[in-house]
Order: sequence, then C-alpha cells, then structure tokens
Amino acid sequence: MRLGIMGGTFDPIHYGHLVAAQEARAALRLDPIVFIPCRQPPHRPTPPAADAEHRYAMTIAATCTNPSFRASRVELERPAPSYTVDTLRWLHDEEPAAELFFITGADAVRELATWREPERLVELCRFVAIARPGYDLGGLERDLGEFARAVSPIQAPGVDISSTEIRQRVSQGRPIKYLTPEPVEAYIVKHGLYRGDDQPDEKGGDQGCPSRSTSATCHGA
Ligand code: NAP
Repeated sequence: MRLGIMGGTFDPIHYGHLVAAQEARAALRLDPIVFIPCRQPPHRPTPPAADAEHRYAMTIAATCTNPSFRASRVELERPAPSYTVDTLRWLHDEEPAAELFFITGADAVRELATWREPERLVELCRFVAIARPGYDLGGLERDLGEFARAVSPIQAPGVDISSTEIRQRVSQGRPIKYLTPEPVEAYIVKHGLYRGDDQPDEKGGDQGCPSRSTSATCHGA
C-alpha cells in the first residue's frame, strides 16, 4: 500500500487542499490519503483560530464523499505540539507494510531540517511538497540540502486559495462560497467560526458535527 498522509492545520480545509491531495494521489499512485489535522503545529507560537475538534469535523465534512480520502484523529489524541515524527512512527507501527508519503505545503517542507528528528522523518516517509499557483519552487533543493533526496515537489493545479484568505473573508462578512465545500461553509456559519468577535460556540460540540469516533482511527466514506 502507498499511503498518502495529508498533514496540515486545516483552519479551515478548502478546495486548494482537496485538489492538491487529488493531484498527489494521481502523480504518485497513492491510495488511500489520510487527512490529519494537527492539534498545534510545532513551529507556530500562537494556536490555530479554530479549535482542533472543529477543524477535524470540517475535515470529515470535506473528505467524506471521496472513497479514497479518510480523516484521522491521531494528532488530536496527543498533547500539543503535534510532531510529525510521532505521527509517522504511529502509522508505521499500525501499517508496517505501507510506504508512507507525507503531503504538505512546499513552504512548510522547505523548513524540514528544523523539524523534530529530520533524519528519522526521511527514513519513515517520502515528503510531497505542494506548491500553490505562483509559488516559486526555485532553491528548494538547495534549502533542503541533504534532505532533498526525500522530497518530491508537485505543482498544484490552479486553485489559489488559502485558509488565511477564508478566515479574513469570514471576519469581513464576505462570501466564501466555492472556495470550500458547501458542508464546510455551512459548518463555519453554524458554529460562528472566524467571525473575529470572540464568540465562538462550544468546542466542536456534537450538534451538527459529522460522526466521529473517540479513537485515533481513520474515518472513511
Ligand atoms: P503552514 O505553515 O500553515 O502552511 C504552509 C503553507 O502550506 C500554507 O500556504 C498552507 O496553506 C499550505 N498547506 C498546509 N498544509 C497543506 C497541505 N496538506 N497541502 C497543501 N498545502 C498545505 O503549515 P501547517 O499547516 O502549520 O503545517 C503543515 C504540516 O507540517 C502539519 O502537519 C504540521 O504538523 C507539519 N509540521 C511539522 C513540524 C514538526 O514536526 N516539527 C514542523 C512544521 C510543520 P493553507 O494555510 O491554505 O493551509
């Protein structure tokens, strides 16, 4: 099995992530692809805007119609910060025969040498660096140095959407329709996420959330 692992904060998930995952799946013949929202990315001093349970619920809402996509709670079940090496060790133990491919943004991969245990990381998986439209992959190999051999860069199709832009639009009352799947948009509205008025509702409450298990297992369609 060639297992794709889509790692990100997904604050919120959007069509740019979904299209990138599909592109990586086709280019590298990956199946399935597991989306893993992190609790707290190690390199960021401030917490994500939406609670981890909300980001996980939106990830399920966005991926549940694709039979090759899954969502996993594995990083939500561990205390922060979410070190990728811990997740890959766990996946390697769960699926010892699987080849692992960690897919994420090219600017995050560029900093790979600063991640926890980079030598172990490149033993455990191959990295797939997604370049958004307009992102310059130039110098990536130089910046990665000895780790360049473990990275496959992929140019994402022309869907230039960012989570930052979606959060800004929501806080300004501007539309986000067609930037993210409708169930994600509906979830953001229902739970009052990203309004910037400091009145988010309860943390990922069950009302209206897609079903979720309490274990660190993956959800399929
Ligand atoms: P980020 O720095 O917020 O994102 C960097 C760029 O990549 C942004 O443009 C982002 O766009 C994009 N991006 C993020 N995830 C993506 C994905 N799966 N596919 C395509 N583009 C993506 O990155 P992050 O989300 O915090 O971290 C990315 C992953 O790397 C996470 O799983 C994180 O835990 C891991 N990481 C681990 C370590 C470590 O173990 N020490 C250090 C750094 C990162 P959007 O804003 O639109 O998503």
